[in-house]
Amino acid sequence: MKKQVLIAGGGIGGMAAALAASRAGWDVRLYERVAQFSEVGAGVQLGPNVVRCLQAWGLQKALQQVAAFPDKLQVRCALSGKELGVLPLGRTTVQRYGAAYATIHRADLHGLLHGGVQRYTDAQLYQGVGIESFADASGQAGRAGVVPGAETVVSVSTTEGKEIEGDALIGADGLWSRTRLLLLGAQAPRVTGHLAYRALVPQSALPPSLRTRHVTAWLGPRLHMVQYPVRRGELQNLVVIVQGRAPANLEEWDHDANARDLEAALLGTSTALQHAVHSVEAAGRGWRLWPLCDRPPVRSADDMARGLVALLGDAAHPMRPYLAQGAGMAIEDAAQVERALSMHDLEVPLRLRRYAVNRWQRNARVQARSIRNGRIFHATGPVRWARDLSLRLLGEKILDVPWLYRGDGMDLHRS
Ligand SMILES: Cc1cc2nc3c(=O)[nH]c(=O)nc-3n(C[C@H](O)[C@H](O)[C@H](O)COP(=O)(O)OP(=O)(O)OC[C@H]3O[C@@H](n4cnc5c(N)ncnc54)[C@H](O)[C@@H]3O)c2cc1C
Repeated sequence: MKKQVLIAGGGIGGMAAALAASRAGWDVRLYERVAQFSEVGAGVQLGPNVVRCLQAWGLQKALQQVAAFPDKLQVRCALSGKELGVLPLGRTTVQRYGAAYATIHRADLHGLLHGGVQRYTDAQLYQGVGIESFADASGQAGRAGVVPGAETVVSVSTTEGKEIEGDALIGADGLWSRTRLLLLGAQAPRVTGHLAYRALVPQSALPPSLRTRHVTAWLGPRLHMVQYPVRRGELQNLVVIVQGRAPANLEEWDHDANARDLEAALLGTSTALQHAVHSVEAAGRGWRLWPLCDRPPVRSADDMARGLVALLGDAAHPMRPYLAQGAGMAIEDAAQVERALSMHDLEVPLRLRRYAVNRWQRNARVQARSIRNGRIFHATGPVRWARDLSLRLLGEKILDVPWLYRGDGMDLHRS
């Protein structure tokens, strides 16, 4: 009989996990608490490490139809506007890492994973149904262990008051994960003191000089901005990160933003940067505000799986967006879920353990590097001066991240 995995959360991580677990030969039931699968209007960058996972799942063509493939990453000084360094992307990335560097609307990424689940699997997807709690075979709430002599099942209660049994539970329920709370105990995410202002503008509504085909990162004291094309280049994604006080309701990650606050935070930056920012309102579009939270880097495999329950994506390792890899690591996690769940000769807790052992150190490294990047991006004084000099002298060498882009060494297409 096929084993059954229950998945809490139908975001990018949960949908990728549904595809991966189905490919491993498991029955899948995915529960998304929101009534309709949706993703906020914003972009994400996908390194070649992530694009390779999508290719291995047969999603290359779907990606090609919706993503943009920038030709370079350009770093500029937010104050002077001058170029500090360049990393060629496009063909260079394909030659170096066997896959492209892509930029994509979040809804398009979610849509292509969802499409893959519908096309290639018989996973059952439930919307408007949340996971409330889980218990092990002894009936003890929040326990994920395996009770000697008892059946090895995890029993889940839903917000509809139903009890469902599965052979494993994957918590892909995001930053404020209920699965994590029950599995690892209460510890709220950290408020970073960084605020992300985000906007999407049709490139056709911008003057030609402000349209872009590449990723541009503007680095300034205590702030930075990133721009890139999404949706085949038809839209431009802008994200400005400044330091400031987060709004009260942190569990909502998408808030109304006041463009005047953003303008005030950008006083003293270059005219070129300010033109880009003003172009949003000029095109009749608005800004959204996301307060950024994270958690300290994962400390051990135990933080990612215990007994019959595993965590994936932001539920396991929410990170600052300064390496642009949060969704990427959720997708890499899912690729490892596929490998681990395919080990049909192993007991389920050992398979989840294998998943966690394979993933935790890489996730921890990406979390730690994201924190460090944030410090470097927002540097002031001599550190800023040293950063700019290094970028001018060694640009490409500093901006390339081979250990990350080569993947975790266990890509499915190589296995
Ligand atoms: C400003 C910013 C820029 C970013 N840029 C990038 C980038 O360029 N590249 C990149 O790779 N990443 C980026 N990220 C990170 C990326 O957005 C996240 O890492 C990614 O969305 C995490 O996906 P997830 O599926 O794990 O969690 P989520 O997207 O949070 O999905 C969790 C899902 O679970 C559901 N849920 C919650 N609780 C329950 C429950 N109890 N039962 C059932 N369902 C539940 C939620 O409704 C939601 O649909 C960025 C993040 C930010 C904030």
